Amino acid sequence: MKTIIEPFRIKSVERLKMTTEAQRKHLLKNAHYNVVLLNSDDVLIDLLTDSGTTAMSSEQWASLHLGDESYVRSPSYYKFVAAVQKYMPFKYVLPTHQGRPAERILASVVSQDGSIIPNNSHFDTTRANFSHAKATPIDLVIDEAKDPTSLYPFKGNMDIPKLALLLEKSQQNIPLIMLTITNNSVGGQPVSMANIRQTSELCKSFNIPLFFDACRFAENAYLIKRNEAEYQDVSIKSIVQEMFSYADGMTMSAKKDALVNTGGWLALNDDHWAEKAMDQLLLTEGFITYGGLAGRDLHAMALGIEEGIDEDYLKYRINSIEYLGNALDKVGIPVHKPFGGHAIYIDVEAMFSHIPVSAHPGQALNMALYEEAGIRACEISSVKLDNSAKQQNTSEKIIVRLAIPRRVYTKSHLDYIVEAFDNINRRKEQIQGLNMTLDAHPLRQYAAQFEPIIAQ
Ligand SMILES: *Cc1c(COP(=O)(O)O)cnc(C)c1O
Repeated sequence: MKTIIEPFRIKSVERLKMTTEAQRKHLLKNAHYNVVLLNSDDVLIDLLTDSGTTAMSSEQWASLHLGDESYVRSPSYYKFVAAVQKYMPFKYVLPTHQGRPAERILASVVSQDGSIIPNNSHFDTTRANFSHAKATPIDLVIDEAKDPTSLYPFKGNMDIPKLALLLEKSQQNIPLIMLTITNNSVGGQPVSMANIRQTSELCKSFNIPLFFDACRFAENAYLIKRNEAEYQDVSIKSIVQEMFSYADGMTMSAKKDALVNTGGWLALNDDHWAEKAMDQLLLTEGFITYGGLAGRDLHAMALGIEEGIDEDYLKYRINSIEYLGNALDKVGIPVHKPFGGHAIYIDVEAMFSHIPVSAHPGQALNMALYEEAGIRACEISSVKLDNSAKQQNTSEKIIVRLAIPRRVYTKSHLDYIVEAFDNINRRKEQIQGLNMTLDAHPLRQYAAQFEPIIAQ
């Protein structure tokens, strides 16, 4: 059978508020034409992020009631640790309330002034946390990642020769090497097992530990199975186990592939680092067996890890992303290929070539999507700035990302998104750019205000 089928049925529904175009125009105006300023209950299909937006299973919801809320050494903690160590055999597993406290703790433990932290690509929070700890984060992703025409299936890979050069030059300043799977900053592109293995061998030869930023490890495992010939007949569970056998530790945002609404962890083998990390955890998060979470959250994560690597679920997940990408492609929307694991990326400059970059074409697309169909997408690059940047980064492409929450939307929701894009594309010449009327550094994308440019 070729039809994509959601491998679940719906027991509990969340009602969506339907709005008219006139209402949406009014709501947009009140939100100063920045969709981030819309209240989420005014949004029909919310594609802002795949983080923490997962639908939990009936088993996860039922398990919440089994959570043990004892302050120390609750059985929920041991259930969680066993679930992690089944696939990620690290000696210490420290729960955290999401991914970034795990990163903050790791960064503060390993870095000192002058440290260099290589990664295929640092995610925003990883980069910020290492910078905050006075280390220098460096991205060494392969060149194919920067080539929108390349169809290479593992565009998330680490550039091994570049890493080797850096290690030869700066070995003594590199406390650890990170590998982000999948590589979120370059479009959720996967890293191949061969590349993971080579990175690990290189790290071992320099005696430097390798840590995964593993938020989307399950989607990465599925893409290895699909695109790396020797893994076609290997089970996802075995692929996941092999992936983690090459690492010495990991940070995790469970809001992604562990299928929960909040949670994360830091796992590692090094006794000395673990001791320092546990001190930090106690200082700012909570006791080492709950790390800022409730016992019930630990239960939900333990189940989410298993459900997230279920082969039927992953097949549906990756195939739905691809279905959406192909359908948009078919109606003439310029989409980045190959499709990543969690989102579809629109090349806005190609789609809205009539709107100059200074008139924020990405925001114009966001606005059109909401006005047309109540869809909220996420614009990256043109409005977003990193904290230190004083002006717009003009070298980056303008992209609108459609991040797909896990197990939330059905195939008809995806068809609805495609229809909205098709309609917008047909009348795109009428869509105007926007002026920024309020610039709010440093978190510009969350607070900026706009107004439409009215044609003379
Ligand atoms: C989401 C994410 C993080 C941070 O996790 P939070 O749970 O949002 O704090 C780190 N790295 C990557 C690759 C991510 O996608």
